[in-house]
Amino acid sequence: MSHTFDVLVVGAGIFGVTAALSLQTRGYQVALLDPGPLPHPLAASTDISKVIRMEYGPDETYMEMAEKAREGWLAWNEQFDTPLYHETGVTMLTRSPMSPGGFEYESYHMLLRRGHTPERLNADEIIRRFPAWKPGAFVDGFYHAKGGFAESGRVISALVKMAETSGVRLFAGETVEELREENGRITGLLTRTGNQFSAAHTILAAGAWTWVILPELTPVMRTTGHPVFHLKPTRPELFTPPHFVVFTADISHSGWYGFPHHPREGVVKIANHGVGVRLHPEHDERIVTAEDEHQLRTFLADTFPALIDAPIVYTRRCLYCDSLDEHFWITQHPYKQGLTIATAGSGHGFKFGPVLGDLIADAVEGHSNSWLPKFAWRHLEADTTGEEASRFHGAHD
Ligand SMILES: Cc1cc2nc3c(=O)[nH]c(=O)nc-3n(C[C@H](O)[C@H](O)[C@H](O)COP(=O)(O)OP(=O)(O)OC[C@H]3O[C@@H](n4cnc5c(N)ncnc54)[C@H](O)[C@@H]3O)c2cc1C
Repeated sequence: MSHTFDVLVVGAGIFGVTAALSLQTRGYQVALLDPGPLPHPLAASTDISKVIRMEYGPDETYMEMAEKAREGWLAWNEQFDTPLYHETGVTMLTRSPMSPGGFEYESYHMLLRRGHTPERLNADEIIRRFPAWKPGAFVDGFYHAKGGFAESGRVISALVKMAETSGVRLFAGETVEELREENGRITGLLTRTGNQFSAAHTILAAGAWTWVILPELTPVMRTTGHPVFHLKPTRPELFTPPHFVVFTADISHSGWYGFPHHPREGVVKIANHGVGVRLHPEHDERIVTAEDEHQLRTFLADTFPALIDAPIVYTRRCLYCDSLDEHFWITQHPYKQGLTIATAGSGHGFKFGPVLGDLIADAVEGHSNSWLPKFAWRHLEADTTGEEASRFHGAHD
């Protein structure tokens, strides 16, 4: 069977579904392909929660994008059947005083410079306002009210519905096998079911699977797996806003961050944003190990005494599509016409959902957009110094 559209979008995670929605709104007939069901259970976008915040250390572009995205989240809340973005505020705490060059310090001062009002916290203030934290373990940091979490899996479901209502043709059940190229132009694709799709433009937004479909991306991006834990607290009131909000716990040194007691799921989710484990998205198992759990328990003992023995009711190793510099890859292919790559969320892409669609559509249409140069096709080399072993030079999540 063959189908013809103006634009084909491969992958219905947050990058793909927002791109499909924006391009359909701009008047293109769009097809959205994904193996499904949607939200896809193995997709990075599919989860009970993702952090939505503005803090990006010294990186002003990401903060500017996050400011705009926050307005979008508030607008989507009006459109969704039920609000899926919960603006609980965010606490970013440190075990030693914040200092110049540190992620928390630079974020705090960038917020002030851009007119926001983060509230600095010392050890006493932390315990007074957020009593679940271990007294004296964290001595500095801040609370910022403009941030929180989004119920990401439900957001994808709502956006897929919005896309279909706007006229996007959804092909759940279709796995793209290969792109069709004629004389240096991508003219369409072939799926595992043997169906052929043709279009003037194709967008590759397959998350951690993107380099599998387009192997020439392998030198500049990779798939890494990261542990996620859901805990059942015996005292949920201690982990409920305003007494407990989205947090990062000395993240530049530890990688640990998490969420308040989930309003629907009744769990506290904690995850680690570290180097992760290199994995193949289709061939390798995605397991959380006993060592991962041991590291979690060590962290809890040092941070949240009331969670030390909390049962773990669910674990997941979720996959990032990591570019080597951890910046997104949103760009037309430099020498294959008719193809745009929209991927490499690198563990921090979901929060930008409300601005991603137009950003990708601008890339497809070749419109100038002040944010796009950051995500352009670029030459990257794997770091052989080993410094790469830590990703917290920017501490994105
Ligand atoms: C553990 C973890 C925690 C995170 N926490 C945060 C956070 O707190 N805040 C934040 O902003 N970001 C966070 N992120 C990052 C964020 O989730 C991702 O950047 C974002 O969801 C990536 O979206 P995507 O659309 O690129 O990929 P995905 O959501 O993975 O979607 C890709 C889609 O492509 C489809 N696909 C794959 N292969 C094919 C094929 N051959 N044909 C057709 N379709 C295909 C898949 O089925 C899938 O639906 C986190 C990620 C992980 C893994």
